[in-house]
Amino acid sequence: MSPKRRFKVHSRNTLFQRQKGLCFYCHRPVLKSELTIDHIIPLSKGGTHTMDNFVGSCAKCNVEKSSMDAEKFILAKSLSRLFSGD
Ligand SMILES: [Zn+2]
Repeated sequence: MSPKRRFKVHSRNTLFQRQKGLCFYCHRPVLKSELTIDHIIPLSKGGTHTMDNFVGSCAKCNVEKSSMDAEKFILAKSLSRLFSGD
């Protein structure tokens, strides 16, 4: 097992606990094995590879968000929750 892989598993556990098992974006419960790690600020925009810049999301949100800024995506998610009454 490479150090990189170990770091990823550790990050996922930490994020899962920090978010109490919920997706950061849609707040729905997500299995730890399905939690994907996302950068709040993309590395391409100067984001760092640290826990401060990581959030855990479900696979659906990860795909939906794609390369959108986290800020925009959170806003879009909040609005859709508001209007769907979810
Ligand atoms: Zn989600």
